[in-house]
Amino acid sequence: MSRFIFFTGGVVSSLGKGIAAASLGRLLKSRGISVSIQKLDPYINTDAGTMNPYQHGEVFVTEDGAETDLDLGHYERFIDENLTKLHNVTTGQIYGSVIEQERRGAYLGATVQVVPHITNEIKDRIKQVSIASGADVCIIEVGGTVGDIESLPFLEAIRQFKHDVGDDHVMYIHLTLVPHLGAADELKTKPTQHSVRELRAIGISPDAIICRAEYPLTPEIKEKIALFCDVKRSAVVQSRDAQSIYQVPLNLEAEGLAEAVCEKFGLSERTLDLEDWRTIVRRIQRPKETVRVALVGKYVELKDAYISINEALYHAGVAQNAAVDIERIDSETLEERGVEALSDVSGVLVAPGFGARGIKGKLMAIRYAREREVPFLGICYGMQLACVEFARNVCGLDNAHTKEVQPETPHPVIDFMENQRNLQVMGGTMRLGAYPCSLEEETLARRLYGAADVWERHRHRFEFNNAYREIFERNGMVFSGHYRAGDLVEIIELASHPWFVGTQAHPEFKSRPTRPAPLYAGFIEACISYAHARTLGRGLVRERIGA
Ligand code: GLN
Repeated sequence: MSRFIFFTGGVVSSLGKGIAAASLGRLLKSRGISVSIQKLDPYINTDAGTMNPYQHGEVFVTEDGAETDLDLGHYERFIDENLTKLHNVTTGQIYGSVIEQERRGAYLGATVQVVPHITNEIKDRIKQVSIASGADVCIIEVGGTVGDIESLPFLEAIRQFKHDVGDDHVMYIHLTLVPHLGAADELKTKPTQHSVRELRAIGISPDAIICRAEYPLTPEIKEKIALFCDVKRSAVVQSRDAQSIYQVPLNLEAEGLAEAVCEKFGLSERTLDLEDWRTIVRRIQRPKETVRVALVGKYVELKDAYISINEALYHAGVAQNAAVDIERIDSETLEERGVEALSDVSGVLVAPGFGARGIKGKLMAIRYAREREVPFLGICYGMQLACVEFARNVCGLDNAHTKEVQPETPHPVIDFMENQRNLQVMGGTMRLGAYPCSLEEETLARRLYGAADVWERHRHRFEFNNAYREIFERNGMVFSGHYRAGDLVEIIELASHPWFVGTQAHPEFKSRPTRPAPLYAGFIEACISYAHARTLGRGLVRERIGA
Protein backbone atom coordinates (compact mmCIF):
# COMPACT_ATOMS: atom_id res chain seq x y z
CA MET A 1 0.00 0.00 0.00
CA SER A 2 1.11 3.58 -0.67
CA ARG A 3 2.12 5.97 2.06
CA PHE A 4 0.12 9.19 2.13
CA ILE A 5 1.40 12.71 2.80
CA PHE A 6 -1.24 15.37 3.31
CA PHE A 7 -0.32 19.00 2.75
CA THR A 8 -2.36 21.72 4.45
CA GLY A 9 -1.79 25.45 4.57
CA GLY A 10 -2.31 28.02 7.28
CA VAL A 11 -2.13 31.72 8.17
CA VAL A 12 -2.54 33.11 4.65
CA SER A 13 -3.11 31.79 1.14
CA SER A 14 -0.61 31.94 -1.74
CA LEU A 15 2.29 30.58 0.30
CA GLY A 16 3.26 28.21 -2.48
CA LYS A 17 1.81 25.01 -1.10
CA GLY A 18 1.71 23.52 -4.58
CA ILE A 19 5.40 24.22 -5.17
CA ALA A 20 6.27 22.84 -1.73
CA ALA A 21 4.29 19.65 -2.39
CA ALA A 22 5.79 19.30 -5.86
CA SER A 23 9.28 19.89 -4.45
CA LEU A 24 8.87 17.17 -1.85
CA GLY A 25 7.67 14.91 -4.66
CA ARG A 26 10.86 15.67 -6.59
CA LEU A 27 13.04 14.94 -3.54
CA LEU A 28 11.38 11.58 -2.97
CA LYS A 29 11.53 10.65 -6.63
CA SER A 30 15.20 11.56 -6.70
CA ARG A 31 15.62 8.93 -4.00
CA GLY A 32 14.11 6.28 -6.24
CA ILE A 33 10.73 6.39 -4.49
CA SER A 34 7.76 6.45 -6.87
CA VAL A 35 5.45 9.39 -6.31
CA SER A 36 2.02 10.61 -7.33
CA ILE A 37 0.40 13.92 -6.39
CA GLN A 38 -3.25 14.90 -6.08
CA LYS A 39 -4.95 18.23 -5.40
CA LEU A 40 -8.20 18.52 -3.47
CA ASP A 41 -9.91 21.81 -4.34
CA PRO A 42 -12.69 23.00 -2.05
CA TYR A 43 -14.60 25.04 -4.66
CA ILE A 44 -17.96 23.93 -6.06
CA ASN A 45 -17.08 24.14 -9.76
CA THR A 46 -16.74 20.65 -11.21
CA ASP A 47 -13.37 21.66 -12.62
CA ALA A 48 -11.31 24.73 -13.36
CA GLY A 49 -12.42 24.76 -17.01
CA THR A 50 -15.25 27.25 -16.57
CA MET A 51 -13.31 29.73 -14.43
CA ASN A 52 -11.68 32.77 -15.94
CA PRO A 53 -8.01 33.59 -15.41
CA TYR A 54 -8.85 36.39 -12.96
CA GLN A 55 -10.44 33.79 -10.70
CA HIS A 56 -8.09 31.01 -11.13
CA GLY A 57 -5.00 31.75 -13.18
CA GLU A 58 -4.23 29.24 -15.89
CA VAL A 59 -6.28 26.12 -16.51
CA PHE A 60 -3.86 23.20 -16.80
CA VAL A 61 -4.82 20.35 -19.15
CA THR A 62 -3.78 16.73 -18.58
CA GLU A 63 -3.18 14.03 -21.21
CA ASP A 64 -6.66 12.61 -20.60
CA GLY A 65 -8.27 16.01 -21.09
CA ALA A 66 -9.03 17.10 -17.53
CA GLU A 67 -9.14 20.88 -17.06
CA THR A 68 -7.37 21.26 -13.76
CA ASP A 69 -5.84 23.54 -11.20
CA LEU A 70 -2.53 25.08 -12.22
CA ASP A 71 -0.78 23.28 -9.36
CA LEU A 72 -1.02 20.10 -11.44
CA GLY A 73 1.32 21.83 -13.87
CA HIS A 74 3.86 22.31 -11.09
CA TYR A 75 3.43 18.69 -10.04
CA GLU A 76 4.04 17.38 -13.56
CA ARG A 77 7.03 19.64 -14.11
CA PHE A 78 8.61 18.74 -10.78
CA ILE A 79 7.96 15.01 -10.53
CA ASP A 80 8.08 14.42 -14.27
CA GLU A 81 4.97 12.20 -14.36
CA ASN A 82 1.78 12.65 -16.36
CA LEU A 83 -1.26 13.09 -14.14
CA THR A 84 -4.91 12.44 -14.94
CA LYS A 85 -8.40 13.52 -14.07
CA LEU A 86 -8.12 11.48 -10.89
CA HIS A 87 -5.52 13.91 -9.63
CA ASN A 88 -7.71 16.97 -9.22
CA VAL A 89 -10.82 16.57 -7.08
CA THR A 90 -13.26 19.37 -6.33
CA THR A 91 -16.19 19.74 -3.95
CA GLY A 92 -18.37 19.93 -7.06
CA GLN A 93 -17.23 16.49 -8.23
CA ILE A 94 -17.68 14.95 -4.77
CA TYR A 95 -21.21 16.27 -4.26
CA GLY A 96 -22.09 15.57 -7.90
CA SER A 97 -21.15 11.94 -7.48
CA VAL A 98 -22.84 11.52 -4.07
CA ILE A 99 -26.07 13.10 -5.31
CA GLU A 100 -26.03 10.93 -8.41
CA GLN A 101 -25.63 7.81 -6.24
CA GLU A 102 -28.43 8.97 -3.96
CA ARG A 103 -30.77 9.30 -6.97
CA ARG A 104 -29.83 5.81 -8.08
CA GLY A 105 -30.81 4.54 -4.66
CA ALA A 106 -27.28 3.43 -3.83
CA TYR A 107 -27.58 4.49 -0.19
CA LEU A 108 -30.49 2.12 0.47
CA GLY A 109 -32.68 4.52 2.41
CA ALA A 110 -29.97 6.11 4.54
CA THR A 111 -29.91 9.82 5.32
CA VAL A 112 -27.09 11.11 3.14
CA GLN A 113 -24.70 13.26 5.18
CA VAL A 114 -21.32 15.00 5.05
CA VAL A 115 -19.98 12.37 7.45
CA PRO A 116 -19.76 9.61 6.31
CA HIS A 117 -21.01 9.91 2.71
CA ILE A 118 -19.11 12.98 1.53
CA THR A 119 -16.00 12.06 3.51
CA ASN A 120 -16.10 8.48 2.20
CA GLU A 121 -16.33 9.77 -1.34
CA ILE A 122 -13.28 11.99 -0.73
CA LYS A 123 -11.32 9.09 0.77
CA ASP A 124 -12.26 6.90 -2.21
CA ARG A 125 -10.83 9.49 -4.60
CA ILE A 126 -7.58 9.54 -2.64
CA LYS A 127 -7.38 5.74 -2.68
CA GLN A 128 -8.07 5.68 -6.43
CA VAL A 129 -4.87 7.63 -7.06
CA SER A 130 -2.93 5.18 -4.94
CA ILE A 131 -4.41 2.20 -6.80
CA ALA A 132 -4.11 3.67 -10.31
CA SER A 133 -0.55 4.97 -9.86
CA GLY A 134 0.77 2.22 -7.64
CA ALA A 135 3.05 4.90 -6.20
CA ASP A 136 5.13 4.30 -3.08
CA VAL A 137 4.08 7.71 -1.82
CA CYS A 138 0.96 9.72 -2.68
CA ILE A 139 1.12 13.40 -1.85
CA ILE A 140 -2.27 15.06 -1.40
CA GLU A 141 -2.53 18.82 -1.26
CA VAL A 142 -5.66 20.28 0.32
CA GLY A 143 -6.42 23.59 -1.37
CA GLY A 144 -7.33 26.68 0.63
CA THR A 145 -6.30 27.66 4.14
CA VAL A 146 -7.16 25.91 7.39
CA GLY A 147 -10.12 27.76 8.86
CA ASP A 148 -12.02 28.07 5.57
CA ILE A 149 -15.55 26.70 5.78
CA GLU A 150 -15.20 25.01 2.40
CA SER A 151 -12.25 22.82 3.29
CA LEU A 152 -13.77 21.23 6.41
CA PRO A 153 -15.08 18.03 4.75
CA PHE A 154 -11.67 17.49 3.13
CA LEU A 155 -9.85 17.99 6.42
CA GLU A 156 -12.24 15.60 8.16
CA ALA A 157 -11.62 13.04 5.41
CA ILE A 158 -7.84 13.26 5.71
CA ARG A 159 -8.14 13.06 9.49
CA GLN A 160 -10.08 9.82 9.13
CA PHE A 161 -7.56 8.54 6.62
CA LYS A 162 -4.96 7.96 9.33
CA HIS A 163 -7.53 6.05 11.32
CA ASP A 164 -8.24 3.86 8.28
CA VAL A 165 -4.72 3.07 7.05
CA GLY A 166 -2.64 3.47 10.20
CA ASP A 167 -0.27 6.02 11.64
CA ASP A 168 2.79 4.54 9.96
CA HIS A 169 1.30 5.16 6.51
CA VAL A 170 0.20 8.76 6.95
CA MET A 171 2.00 12.03 7.42
CA TYR A 172 0.60 15.55 7.74
CA ILE A 173 2.67 18.53 6.67
CA HIS A 174 1.47 22.03 7.43
CA LEU A 175 2.75 25.09 5.59
CA THR A 176 2.63 28.42 7.41
CA LEU A 177 3.96 31.94 7.31
CA VAL A 178 6.43 33.28 9.86
CA PRO A 179 6.16 37.02 9.34
CA HIS A 180 8.94 39.48 10.04
CA LEU A 181 8.00 42.59 11.99
CA GLY A 182 10.15 45.40 10.69
CA ALA A 183 9.87 47.74 13.69
CA ALA A 184 10.84 45.06 16.20
CA ASP A 185 13.12 43.27 13.71
CA GLU A 186 11.64 39.99 14.83
CA LEU A 187 10.21 36.87 13.25
CA LYS A 188 6.87 36.02 14.82
CA THR A 189 5.75 32.46 15.47
CA LYS A 190 2.31 33.21 16.92
CA PRO A 191 0.37 32.95 13.65
CA THR A 192 1.92 29.50 13.13
CA GLN A 193 0.97 28.45 16.65
CA HIS A 194 -2.61 29.59 16.11
CA SER A 195 -2.87 27.90 12.77
CA VAL A 196 -1.60 24.61 14.17
CA ARG A 197 -4.02 24.94 17.09
CA GLU A 198 -6.84 25.31 14.57
CA LEU A 199 -5.69 22.19 12.78
CA ARG A 200 -5.47 20.24 16.03
CA ALA A 201 -8.99 21.36 16.94
CA ILE A 202 -10.22 19.37 13.96
CA GLY A 203 -8.14 16.41 14.99
CA ILE A 204 -5.03 16.73 12.82
CA SER A 205 -1.61 16.99 14.44
CA PRO A 206 1.05 17.93 11.92
CA ASP A 207 4.15 15.76 11.70
CA ALA A 208 6.15 18.51 10.02
CA ILE A 209 5.84 22.24 9.58
CA ILE A 210 7.23 24.19 6.64
CA CYS A 211 7.68 27.84 7.50
CA ARG A 212 7.70 30.44 4.79
CA ALA A 213 9.81 33.37 5.95
CA GLU A 214 11.77 36.13 4.31
CA TYR A 215 14.60 35.83 6.84
CA PRO A 216 16.44 32.80 8.17
CA LEU A 217 14.77 31.08 11.10
CA THR A 218 17.18 30.85 14.01
CA PRO A 219 17.57 27.53 15.85
CA GLU A 220 15.73 29.13 18.78
CA ILE A 221 12.74 29.99 16.64
CA LYS A 222 12.62 26.49 15.18
CA GLU A 223 12.87 25.10 18.71
CA LYS A 224 10.00 27.28 19.84
CA ILE A 225 7.76 26.21 16.94
CA ALA A 226 8.67 22.55 17.60
CA LEU A 227 7.78 22.86 21.27
CA PHE A 228 4.57 24.87 20.91
CA CYS A 229 3.29 22.92 17.95
CA ASP A 230 4.46 19.55 19.24
CA VAL A 231 6.53 18.43 16.26
CA LYS A 232 10.07 17.10 16.18
CA ARG A 233 12.74 19.77 16.03
CA SER A 234 14.09 18.19 12.81
CA ALA A 235 10.63 18.44 11.27
CA VAL A 236 10.45 22.23 11.46
CA VAL A 237 11.88 23.38 8.18
CA GLN A 238 12.17 26.68 6.49
CA SER A 239 11.31 27.55 2.93
CA ARG A 240 12.85 30.89 2.10
CA ASP A 241 11.82 33.00 -0.86
CA ALA A 242 13.71 31.61 -3.84
CA GLN A 243 14.74 33.38 -7.02
CA SER A 244 13.48 30.49 -9.09
CA ILE A 245 10.87 27.91 -8.12
CA TYR A 246 13.31 25.21 -9.27
CA GLN A 247 15.56 26.21 -6.35
CA VAL A 248 12.88 25.20 -3.82
CA PRO A 249 13.57 21.42 -3.83
CA LEU A 250 17.25 22.13 -3.17
CA ASN A 251 16.39 24.48 -0.30
CA LEU A 252 14.00 21.97 1.24
CA GLU A 253 16.58 19.21 0.84
CA ALA A 254 19.12 21.32 2.73
CA GLU A 255 16.52 21.77 5.48
CA GLY A 256 16.02 18.02 5.77
CA LEU A 257 12.33 17.81 4.79
CA ALA A 258 12.60 14.65 2.71
CA GLU A 259 14.75 13.03 5.38
CA ALA A 260 12.03 13.68 7.95
CA VAL A 261 9.54 11.98 5.60
CA CYS A 262 11.81 9.01 4.92
CA GLU A 263 12.46 8.59 8.61
CA LYS A 264 8.76 8.51 9.39
CA PHE A 265 8.05 5.99 6.63
CA GLY A 266 11.15 3.86 7.15
CA LEU A 267 12.57 4.72 3.71
CA SER A 268 15.82 6.23 4.96
CA GLU A 269 18.29 3.90 3.26
CA ARG A 270 17.63 5.33 -0.24
CA THR A 271 20.39 7.25 -2.00
CA LEU A 272 19.66 10.66 -3.38
CA ASP A 273 20.51 11.66 -6.94
CA LEU A 274 19.66 15.31 -7.59
CA GLU A 275 22.38 15.91 -10.18
CA ASP A 276 19.98 16.67 -13.08
CA TRP A 277 18.09 19.09 -10.96
CA ARG A 278 21.21 20.82 -9.67
CA THR A 279 22.37 21.28 -13.27
CA ILE A 280 19.10 23.00 -14.16
CA VAL A 281 19.34 25.32 -11.18
CA ARG A 282 22.98 26.11 -11.94
CA ARG A 283 22.04 27.03 -15.50
CA ILE A 284 19.17 29.20 -14.31
CA GLN A 285 21.46 31.01 -11.89
CA ARG A 286 24.34 31.50 -14.33
CA PRO A 287 23.00 31.96 -17.85
CA LYS A 288 25.42 32.79 -20.64
CA GLU A 289 23.08 35.35 -22.14
CA THR A 290 19.62 36.79 -21.89
CA VAL A 291 17.05 36.78 -24.65
CA ARG A 292 14.05 39.05 -24.61
CA VAL A 293 10.74 37.80 -26.00
CA ALA A 294 7.27 39.32 -26.07
CA LEU A 295 4.32 37.42 -24.68
CA VAL A 296 1.30 39.11 -26.21
CA GLY A 297 -1.91 38.37 -24.37
CA LYS A 298 -4.77 39.95 -22.52
CA TYR A 299 -4.07 38.85 -18.96
CA VAL A 300 -0.53 40.14 -18.73
CA GLU A 301 -1.02 41.70 -15.30
CA LEU A 302 -1.89 38.29 -13.84
CA LYS A 303 1.16 36.37 -12.75
CA ASP A 304 -0.58 33.01 -12.99
CA ALA A 305 -2.49 33.39 -16.26
CA TYR A 306 0.23 32.05 -18.58
CA ILE A 307 2.24 30.03 -16.09
CA SER A 308 2.89 26.95 -18.26
CA ILE A 309 3.90 29.15 -21.19
CA ASN A 310 6.34 31.05 -18.98
CA GLU A 311 7.79 27.82 -17.66
CA ALA A 312 8.07 26.32 -21.15
CA LEU A 313 9.99 29.41 -22.30
CA TYR A 314 12.29 29.16 -19.27
CA HIS A 315 12.87 25.43 -19.90
CA ALA A 316 13.76 26.21 -23.50
CA GLY A 317 16.17 28.85 -22.23
CA VAL A 318 17.80 26.39 -19.81
CA ALA A 319 18.57 24.10 -22.75
CA GLN A 320 20.40 26.99 -24.46
CA ASN A 321 22.08 28.27 -21.30
CA ALA A 322 20.09 31.45 -21.71
CA ALA A 323 17.82 33.40 -19.42
CA VAL A 324 14.52 34.29 -21.05
CA ASP A 325 13.29 37.76 -20.25
CA ILE A 326 9.57 37.68 -20.93
CA GLU A 327 8.07 41.03 -21.74
CA ARG A 328 4.35 40.71 -21.15
CA ILE A 329 2.56 42.92 -23.61
CA ASP A 330 -1.09 43.67 -23.18
CA SER A 331 -2.75 43.26 -26.57
CA GLU A 332 -5.15 46.12 -25.86
CA THR A 333 -2.27 48.47 -25.10
CA LEU A 334 -0.69 47.37 -28.35
CA GLU A 335 -3.90 48.35 -30.12
CA GLU A 336 -3.73 51.84 -28.63
CA ARG A 337 0.00 52.52 -28.78
CA GLY A 338 1.15 50.60 -31.83
CA VAL A 339 3.80 47.95 -32.40
CA GLU A 340 6.74 50.04 -31.07
CA ALA A 341 6.43 48.00 -27.87
CA LEU A 342 7.82 45.10 -29.91
CA SER A 343 10.86 46.89 -31.23
CA ASP A 344 13.35 45.55 -28.69
CA VAL A 345 12.25 41.91 -28.50
CA SER A 346 13.85 39.02 -30.35
CA GLY A 347 10.70 36.95 -30.65
CA VAL A 348 6.93 37.24 -30.42
CA LEU A 349 4.67 34.68 -28.80
CA VAL A 350 0.93 35.23 -29.16
CA ALA A 351 -0.93 33.61 -26.30
CA PRO A 352 -4.01 31.40 -26.21
CA GLY A 353 -7.32 33.05 -25.43
CA PHE A 354 -11.02 33.36 -25.95
CA GLY A 355 -13.35 36.08 -27.23
CA ALA A 356 -12.99 39.42 -28.98
CA ARG A 357 -11.13 41.57 -26.47
CA GLY A 358 -7.56 42.38 -27.49
CA ILE A 359 -7.83 40.70 -30.91
CA LYS A 360 -6.67 43.71 -32.88
CA GLY A 361 -3.45 44.02 -30.91
CA LYS A 362 -2.73 40.33 -31.39
CA LEU A 363 -3.25 40.66 -35.14
CA MET A 364 -0.90 43.67 -35.17
CA ALA A 365 1.77 41.71 -33.33
CA ILE A 366 1.44 38.80 -35.76
CA ARG A 367 1.69 41.06 -38.79
CA TYR A 368 4.75 42.75 -37.31
CA ALA A 369 6.49 39.42 -36.70
CA ARG A 370 5.59 38.12 -40.15
CA GLU A 371 6.65 41.20 -42.09
CA ARG A 372 9.81 41.97 -40.08
CA GLU A 373 10.87 38.33 -40.00
CA VAL A 374 10.95 38.21 -36.21
CA PRO A 375 10.61 34.65 -34.78
CA PHE A 376 6.95 33.98 -34.07
CA LEU A 377 5.17 31.30 -32.08
CA GLY A 378 1.37 31.28 -32.04
CA ILE A 379 -0.26 29.09 -29.42
CA CYS A 380 -3.84 27.95 -30.08
CA TYR A 381 -5.71 31.26 -30.42
CA GLY A 382 -2.35 32.70 -31.45
CA MET A 383 -2.22 30.19 -34.31
CA GLN A 384 -5.85 30.82 -35.27
CA LEU A 385 -5.26 34.57 -35.40
CA ALA A 386 -2.10 34.03 -37.45
CA CYS A 387 -4.42 32.38 -40.00
CA VAL A 388 -6.79 35.34 -39.86
CA GLU A 389 -3.91 37.78 -40.37
CA PHE A 390 -2.54 35.72 -43.26
CA ALA A 391 -5.96 35.47 -44.90
CA ARG A 392 -6.52 39.21 -44.76
CA ASN A 393 -3.09 40.58 -45.54
CA VAL A 394 -1.51 37.91 -47.74
CA CYS A 395 -4.40 36.08 -49.42
CA GLY A 396 -6.49 39.23 -49.86
CA LEU A 397 -9.53 37.74 -48.15
CA ASP A 398 -11.06 40.93 -46.79
CA ASN A 399 -12.72 40.69 -43.39
CA ALA A 400 -11.61 37.12 -42.93
CA HIS A 401 -12.10 36.15 -39.31
CA THR A 402 -12.72 33.43 -36.79
CA LYS A 403 -16.36 32.60 -36.26
CA GLU A 404 -15.73 32.89 -32.54
CA VAL A 405 -15.49 36.66 -32.92
CA GLN A 406 -17.46 37.34 -36.07
CA PRO A 407 -20.07 34.69 -36.89
CA GLU A 408 -21.11 36.60 -40.03
CA THR A 409 -17.63 36.91 -41.56
CA PRO A 410 -17.53 36.31 -45.34
CA HIS A 411 -14.37 34.24 -44.85
CA PRO A 412 -14.56 32.05 -41.75
CA VAL A 413 -10.98 30.76 -41.91
CA ILE A 414 -11.42 29.53 -38.36
CA ASP A 415 -14.70 27.74 -37.83
CA PHE A 416 -16.57 25.54 -35.38
CA MET A 417 -15.82 21.87 -35.27
CA GLU A 418 -18.77 19.94 -36.61
CA ASN A 419 -19.68 18.48 -33.21
CA GLN A 420 -19.53 21.88 -31.49
CA ARG A 421 -22.18 23.55 -33.60
CA ASN A 422 -25.24 23.04 -31.45
CA LEU A 423 -23.56 22.87 -28.13
CA GLN A 424 -25.60 23.79 -25.06
CA VAL A 425 -23.15 22.78 -22.33
CA MET A 426 -19.93 24.79 -21.97
CA GLY A 427 -18.05 22.84 -19.28
CA GLY A 428 -15.74 20.04 -20.45
CA THR A 429 -16.92 20.12 -24.06
CA MET A 430 -13.95 21.55 -25.95
CA ARG A 431 -11.41 19.44 -27.86
CA LEU A 432 -9.51 18.48 -24.74
CA GLY A 433 -6.43 16.46 -23.94
CA ALA A 434 -3.81 14.69 -26.02
CA TYR A 435 -4.32 14.15 -29.77
CA PRO A 436 -1.89 12.68 -32.28
CA CYS A 437 -0.33 14.95 -34.86
CA SER A 438 1.43 13.72 -38.01
CA LEU A 439 4.24 15.93 -39.22
CA GLU A 440 4.99 16.49 -42.89
CA GLU A 441 8.46 15.78 -44.15
CA GLU A 442 10.86 18.65 -44.82
CA THR A 443 9.08 21.03 -42.49
CA LEU A 444 10.38 23.03 -39.58
CA ALA A 445 7.98 21.25 -37.22
CA ARG A 446 9.19 17.82 -38.30
CA ARG A 447 12.81 18.79 -37.82
CA LEU A 448 12.13 20.33 -34.42
CA TYR A 449 10.23 17.32 -33.11
CA GLY A 450 12.57 14.87 -34.79
CA ALA A 451 9.66 12.45 -35.25
CA ALA A 452 6.87 11.79 -37.73
CA ASP A 453 4.09 11.39 -35.17
CA VAL A 454 3.74 13.28 -31.92
CA TRP A 455 1.06 13.91 -29.30
CA GLU A 456 0.17 17.28 -27.86
CA ARG A 457 -2.58 18.50 -25.54
CA HIS A 458 -5.52 20.59 -26.69
CA ARG A 459 -8.12 22.95 -25.27
CA HIS A 460 -10.22 24.76 -27.87
CA ARG A 461 -13.51 24.72 -29.76
CA PHE A 462 -12.52 26.15 -33.13
CA GLU A 463 -10.39 24.76 -35.97
CA PHE A 464 -8.80 25.83 -39.21
CA ASN A 465 -11.44 25.72 -41.97
CA ASN A 466 -10.21 23.24 -44.61
CA ALA A 467 -12.06 25.13 -47.37
CA TYR A 468 -9.22 27.67 -47.23
CA ARG A 469 -6.30 25.23 -47.36
CA GLU A 470 -5.63 25.63 -51.04
CA ILE A 471 -5.59 29.40 -51.19
CA PHE A 472 -3.38 29.52 -48.10
CA GLU A 473 -0.93 27.03 -49.62
CA ARG A 474 -0.83 28.93 -52.87
CA ASN A 475 0.21 32.00 -50.89
CA GLY A 476 3.02 30.30 -49.01
CA MET A 477 1.47 28.82 -45.90
CA VAL A 478 2.73 25.34 -45.04
CA PHE A 479 0.45 23.00 -43.13
CA SER A 480 3.11 20.99 -41.39
CA GLY A 481 1.07 19.06 -38.83
CA HIS A 482 -2.29 17.28 -39.11
CA TYR A 483 -4.60 15.29 -36.92
CA ARG A 484 -5.34 12.80 -39.66
CA ALA A 485 -8.31 10.97 -38.15
CA GLY A 486 -10.18 14.26 -37.78
CA ASP A 487 -8.77 15.87 -40.93
CA LEU A 488 -7.73 18.86 -38.85
CA VAL A 489 -4.82 21.27 -39.24
CA GLU A 490 -2.53 21.22 -36.20
CA ILE A 491 0.58 23.18 -37.14
CA ILE A 492 1.20 25.97 -39.61
CA GLU A 493 4.42 27.61 -40.75
CA LEU A 494 5.54 30.04 -43.43
CA ALA A 495 7.92 28.87 -46.14
CA SER A 496 9.37 32.33 -46.71
CA HIS A 497 9.86 33.30 -43.06
CA PRO A 498 12.92 32.25 -41.04
CA TRP A 499 10.86 31.06 -38.05
CA PHE A 500 7.09 31.42 -38.03
CA VAL A 501 5.11 28.61 -36.39
CA GLY A 502 1.56 28.34 -35.10
CA THR A 503 0.14 25.36 -33.29
CA GLN A 504 -3.41 24.49 -32.48
CA ALA A 505 -2.17 22.58 -29.44
CA HIS A 506 -0.61 23.65 -26.15
CA PRO A 507 2.89 22.13 -26.17
CA GLU A 508 3.69 24.09 -22.99
CA PHE A 509 1.71 21.57 -20.94
CA LYS A 510 4.22 18.84 -21.72
CA SER A 511 7.35 20.91 -21.22
CA ARG A 512 9.62 19.79 -18.40
CA PRO A 513 12.72 21.53 -17.07
CA THR A 514 14.88 18.66 -18.31
CA ARG A 515 12.90 18.22 -21.56
CA PRO A 516 11.69 21.46 -23.13
CA ALA A 517 8.78 21.23 -25.56
CA PRO A 518 10.31 21.04 -29.07
CA LEU A 519 8.45 24.03 -30.52
CA TYR A 520 9.41 26.19 -27.56
CA ALA A 521 13.00 24.97 -27.73
CA GLY A 522 13.13 25.85 -31.43
CA PHE A 523 11.50 29.20 -30.83
CA ILE A 524 14.00 30.27 -28.17
CA GLU A 525 16.89 29.03 -30.29
CA ALA A 526 15.58 31.15 -33.16
CA CYS A 527 15.14 34.16 -30.86
CA ILE A 528 18.76 33.84 -29.72
CA SER A 529 19.96 33.63 -33.34
CA TYR A 530 17.80 36.62 -34.19
CA ALA A 531 19.31 38.62 -31.32
CA HIS A 532 22.84 37.71 -32.45
CA ALA A 533 22.09 38.51 -36.09
CA ARG A 534 20.61 41.82 -35.09
CA THR A 535 23.71 42.78 -33.13
CA LEU A 536 25.70 42.01 -36.27
CA GLY A 537 23.26 44.06 -38.33
CA ARG A 538 22.10 41.02 -40.33
CA GLY A 539 18.76 39.43 -40.98
CA LEU A 540 17.82 35.99 -39.78
CA VAL A 541 18.36 33.11 -42.17
CA ARG A 542 16.48 29.86 -41.74
CA GLU A 543 19.56 27.68 -42.21
CA ARG A 544 21.48 29.55 -39.56
CA ILE A 545 18.98 28.56 -36.84
CA GLY A 546 19.81 24.95 -37.47
CA ALA A 547 16.25 24.43 -38.62
N1 GLN B 1 -10.79 30.44 -28.46
C1 GLN B 1 -10.16 29.49 -29.30
C2 GLN B 1 -10.97 28.22 -29.43
O1 GLN B 1 -11.78 27.92 -28.59
C3 GLN B 1 -8.75 29.19 -28.83
C4 GLN B 1 -8.67 28.59 -27.47
C5 GLN B 1 -7.27 28.61 -26.90
O2 GLN B 1 -6.47 29.46 -27.26
N2 GLN B 1 -6.98 27.71 -26.00
O3 GLN B 1 -10.82 27.48 -30.37
